[in-house]
Amino acid sequence: MNTQRTTQEWQALDAAHHIHPFSDMGALNRAGSRVIVRGEGVYLWDSEGHQIMDGMAGLWCVNVGYGRKELADAAARQMQELAYYNTFFKTTHPAVIELSRLLAEVTPPGFEHFFFTNSGSEGNDTIIRMVRRYWDIIGQPERKVIISRHNAYHGSTVGAASLGGMDYMHSQGGLPIPDIEHIDQPYWYAEGGDLSPEAFGLKVARQLEEKILAVGPERVAAFIGEPFQGAGGVIFPPDSYWPEIQRICRQYGILLVADEVIGGFGRTGHWFASQHFGIEPDLMTIAKGMTSGYIPMGGVAISRRVADPLINEGGDFNHGLTYSGHPVAAAVAIRNIGILREEGIVERVMNDTGPYFQRCLKEALADNPLIGEVAGTGLVAGMQLTRNKATRELFPNRGEVGLLCRDFCFANNLIMRATGERMLLSPPLVISRSEIDELVSRAQHCITLTARKLG
Ligand code: PLP
Repeated sequence: MNTQRTTQEWQALDAAHHIHPFSDMGALNRAGSRVIVRGEGVYLWDSEGHQIMDGMAGLWCVNVGYGRKELADAAARQMQELAYYNTFFKTTHPAVIELSRLLAEVTPPGFEHFFFTNSGSEGNDTIIRMVRRYWDIIGQPERKVIISRHNAYHGSTVGAASLGGMDYMHSQGGLPIPDIEHIDQPYWYAEGGDLSPEAFGLKVARQLEEKILAVGPERVAAFIGEPFQGAGGVIFPPDSYWPEIQRICRQYGILLVADEVIGGFGRTGHWFASQHFGIEPDLMTIAKGMTSGYIPMGGVAISRRVADPLINEGGDFNHGLTYSGHPVAAAVAIRNIGILREEGIVERVMNDTGPYFQRCLKEALADNPLIGEVAGTGLVAGMQLTRNKATRELFPNRGEVGLLCRDFCFANNLIMRATGERMLLSPPLVISRSEIDELVSRAQHCITLTARKLG
């Protein structure tokens, strides 16, 4: 790759030839993209030599931090040994076998089978097909409806975006596809009104039962949810929420799917966020932290309830991708999971860096008039920007203040994401205590600059 170009040359070529995801390309091309050239630990560098603290681990994925030579070596070794082979037609290979075995060790009890994709979106498309196939095999083919939540994010393909509850995505391309239904999200701060968090949690969970009854219980196949909503704003549901959702799923016999694309592989201090909330899902979507983003890989973890009929009674499952279980991606995932285990990274998030991060962030922002709540656990947090802390009043033009704050972060070499009026942090899991100090003080500074600008 030619790395001799100037920033202006990179930007001009980017504008000339590259369409970015989720971007207003006209506006972006006028402003010029920031060119990121290198990463090490929790830091990135741009083409102007600025050191940037990555408070988002890329897109919630670089769990073991940037610049891990072991992962590059694992990929190089596998490319030389067996760069590619598929597992469609009575073949398999050691990398995908070893990865499946390892996943059976780190996932909660009952998960022993894994299907691989290249992304979380494809993982969720696989969920749609697998859930419906399961009910076909069980002899209840009319069970096709999958219930999700408004403001959920499950990816960007046609199926995954339909499962998601983002109106701005549904409005482009005629989504959702049929037989996907949405209920309210458990976002107490913005939507809980005068109810206590616990009462609100029960109220929105019970919408699942209302929806099941409205659709007809014999037609409902599954409920899907992120244990905590990530892209939707790091929304942590009230404690009453998940037990009630689980009770309803069991009562009506429907499958419970946890989208662990963000929560999986240590983010909350557990290997999977379901374990933090006491959720016992039938299926889990996995991606991101499985390879720490070093190479694309996603998949579905399948519990015995679904795996048994799929394997023993189903015959062909007519679904797969050229790169399902790609050997190089599998080799990177194996080494990545090895690093998470050998370095005790998940345990450190649980016992040390996670509680430290939550405490520092909450203390730093407790008296900040702009911050209504700091929600989170482990190394993920959502900070609610609010107009009036006492009444939980939000700003009128949703998103504007969040973007203002995000721009201050960007200008101050901190990557913090904004969703509506929530600022999000999800740093690499290898972040040290002193780096957490730096992250929190930079975040506090940028929030203060935002408050000043608002007057
Ligand atoms: N599910 C969740 C919860 C996500 O946050 C994402 C991406 O951010 C996805 C699925 C989609 O994953 P991908 O972007 O790898 O397709």
